[in-house]
Amino acid sequence: MKSILITFFTACIALNMYAQNTYIYCGKLIDVNSETVLNEITIVVEGDKIVKVEPGYLPALDNGIIINLKNKFVMPGLIDMHVHLEGEMSKKSYIERFTFDDADIAFQSKVFAERNLMAGFTTVRDLGGRGVNNALRDAIKNGLVIGPRVFSAGKSLSVTGGHADPTNGWRADLMGDPGPAEGVVNGEDDCRKGVRQRYKNGADLIKITATAGVLSMAKSSSNPQFTEDEIRAIVETAADFGMKVAAHAHGAEGMKRAIRAGVASIEHGTLMDEEVISLMKKRGTFLVPTITAGKSVTDSAKIKDYYPAMVTPKALEIGPKIQTSFGRAYAAGVKIAFGTDAGVYRHGKNGLEFQYMVEAGMPPIETIMAATVNAAELLGESETLGSIEPGKYADIIAVDQDPLLHIETMQQVSFVMKGGVVYKQ
Ligand SMILES: [Zn+2]
Repeated sequence: MKSILITFFTACIALNMYAQNTYIYCGKLIDVNSETVLNEITIVVEGDKIVKVEPGYLPALDNGIIINLKNKFVMPGLIDMHVHLEGEMSKKSYIERFTFDDADIAFQSKVFAERNLMAGFTTVRDLGGRGVNNALRDAIKNGLVIGPRVFSAGKSLSVTGGHADPTNGWRADLMGDPGPAEGVVNGEDDCRKGVRQRYKNGADLIKITATAGVLSMAKSSSNPQFTEDEIRAIVETAADFGMKVAAHAHGAEGMKRAIRAGVASIEHGTLMDEEVISLMKKRGTFLVPTITAGKSVTDSAKIKDYYPAMVTPKALEIGPKIQTSFGRAYAAGVKIAFGTDAGVYRHGKNGLEFQYMVEAGMPPIETIMAATVNAAELLGESETLGSIEPGKYADIIAVDQDPLLHIETMQQVSFVMKGGVVYKQ
């Protein structure tokens, strides 16, 4: 711990505190704007920002630091739009809800955050936890913990008995009647209060569970859970507070309500029909696929007693369908932003999603765009993140092989810089 911190702060001092520029020599640079691979480019970094991107290997002026990536494929830092940094699914997860304090969650989330960063994900969107995710975001921002930039939803919003009702499946005397503070809302007034409470707690965006889900202790995997008016109240209130809304959804009816009510993204999108696809295209709604989570829950459900009896059939029903639905949505022209649901499977394996997207018919360059420019657009951070251009944060990664020919290389990121600081080389 101590040595990691020392290395961390040394890196900060070496790269940030002095006005000494860093010159990154890129043998190949994947340009996500022109969708081409450029040869022999220098990226000049000053502080936490990119100041220059020019052809050739520029001389390092004023004792500038040189980072030699001449034999690598360089690209913008990756963005995972759907992670849960607070936890990681295991057989013990259901009991840990009763045994874990926030401090226990915090210590493990520190480890998970670091794994995401080391896998090349310099930015993540945390779509739901207890609220420790907000504190983790701040700790990373303040340099206390190593991890990606985090955009946090805090605790998700759900209806009573819905996918993110934290007391689903508990015995009656423990269940109680959670309300907006706990993320459980019913009716438009509650919905507005729930959003305002998230804002007060420091959330960057709002996550709702528009339909049932797989891992909650409830019977349905896909029924609609909010009325359209409730979702509209959430979206409008969120907009007042400068926040976008991400909607978890497996069933088609819940997706339609959420899209019509104006959410920015549909997460998973498993049982989408033609009407959902055309609504998403018309409204410019993003799909965040999370194929890796689908595959992972399917595998886990085949292990005897891995999940509670109520969850296993839902995992076997929903899990295998996500990849195919993604393929259909992509082919139809729905906007795609990369997201994996890390935490439902092992943090740090996020790069596997690229391969699954390619298998479903998306060209490798477009999978990288989904995890960079498109994700930045959905975050509302196109000015600062998502591509290697002057003025943007120096979030830069590299892999050893050509990802356009060998997409599996995205699972072996060998260089990571975030905000001008090198974390992996
Ligand atoms: Zn999720």
